[in-house]
Amino acid sequence: MAVRDEIGAALAALASGEAVLGDALDGCAEQIEARAADLGVFISVDLDGARARAAELIERDATRLADALPLCGVPVAVKDNMTLPGLPTTCGSRMLEGWQPPYEATIVERLRAAGALVVGKTNMDEFAMGSSNENSAYGPCKNPWDPERVPGGSSGGSAAAVAARMALGALGSDTGGSIRQPAAFCGVVGLKPTYGRISRYGLVAFASSLDQPGPLARDVKSCARLYAVVGGHDRRDSTSLTHPLGDVVAAASAGEGAIDGLRVGVLSQSPVQVAPEVASGVTRATRALAEMGAELHEITLPHAEHALATYYLICTAEASSNLARYDGVRYGHRAAQANDLGALYRQSRAAFGDEVKRRILLGTFALSAGYHDDYYLRAQKVRTLIRRDFEKCFSQCDVLLLPTTPTLPFRRGEKTADPVAMYQADAFTVPASLAGLPALSMPCAVAPAAPEQGRAAPLPVGLQLIAPALEEARLFSVAGALEAALDVDVDIDIAAGGDA
Ligand code: GLN
Repeated sequence: MAVRDEIGAALAALASGEAVLGDALDGCAEQIEARAADLGVFISVDLDGARARAAELIERDATRLADALPLCGVPVAVKDNMTLPGLPTTCGSRMLEGWQPPYEATIVERLRAAGALVVGKTNMDEFAMGSSNENSAYGPCKNPWDPERVPGGSSGGSAAAVAARMALGALGSDTGGSIRQPAAFCGVVGLKPTYGRISRYGLVAFASSLDQPGPLARDVKSCARLYAVVGGHDRRDSTSLTHPLGDVVAAASAGEGAIDGLRVGVLSQSPVQVAPEVASGVTRATRALAEMGAELHEITLPHAEHALATYYLICTAEASSNLARYDGVRYGHRAAQANDLGALYRQSRAAFGDEVKRRILLGTFALSAGYHDDYYLRAQKVRTLIRRDFEKCFSQCDVLLLPTTPTLPFRRGEKTADPVAMYQADAFTVPASLAGLPALSMPCAVAPAAPEQGRAAPLPVGLQLIAPALEEARLFSVAGALEAALDVDVDIDIAAGGDA
């Protein structure tokens, strides 16, 4: 089974003269023009900007650059909470509608310096709060596999753009699962690196102790290529790590040898109920690893059952503090008719959507005098216990294998009335976030269409690999071998509008 490497193939075609710079962009532009608006993938599209950048690169000798620039001519999409001068950064919110950032996010700067062509800013849940992309002030993003269903969130637009071939790669951000869960729902690969691996400079803050940007692509090696470009130390982010990334691109094609003798931890008991299609996809992957020589170990994460409560206390507390800056004076929407300062705050902050308001209220409560110790402090203690659970697992295992999500992509509207049901979508992703560990989601199966069960289209199933801190290269090597062994067909029948 040949190693999948869509971005590498595009670079090779350019270097050999088989393709000209701009060909990959033309292909993506066609998909964007045909379907992006219907699917709500982007908040702003910038094909003219991408074409202008391609022309600039061509002038600098495209074939030679293909060898020198690791993403030369590669069309990428960027989540709309990352700053890129020249385009608005809205964070999916009315609060920042039309805001033109005066500075560029480090990750965007690195992408562009590597020759990538940014095709647009992708749709997202407002301020990255959500698991379905239904919390965007600019309308929902739909799942390209089945437009009746959600693409996941909050980086739903980034995952959908990649799945629907509107870009060869994308950047997302993950606070409690926002790269991994949409990657699983859209049948693509997504990495949340170790906290501190990728610079947050220019990423609009949601929960600063958890936020981490990361790449999405249609295959493991392409995802590694993006990570190799955007990752690594940045002195403009005080939490940025200085450790070298290692050769993650080579790791992605290490092959079966990476699995022989690998100790893989699988949960002996799930903290939540898992849909049968998800369970069987994960079992299939577990078997494939065992066949390649992995040793399977049953593990427990005794405090994982408290991970959701812990996460939703910590992230709301940090969000209430981070979002205090949007007061109509210093940042964001400013109400026109306010008579005094109190009214100005109240009326300006009314621009936030319901979920953001809910989280600000919850977070403010958790931090308030009299409740701080019972909620926020206790959550921090449980966070430490969850971190220790992982340390114990990693004394026996090299990687852990879990589902990414408890369910298949759900229908739009199915969980909007019940925030707790929506929060459950993150049950498998938040533990690694709280522990700051690297985790990757990749497709492990496709559940076929089953009209009798209300499933009009095939839907992808994701699995999650978690490694000890700084071991992204290990994740890429295991994921690469698994991808080749499973050989999941994640090509959506675009001509059929995803309904094939
Ligand atoms: N879905 C989770 C939430 O709503 C995670 C969001 C994220 O990772 N940005 O908070």
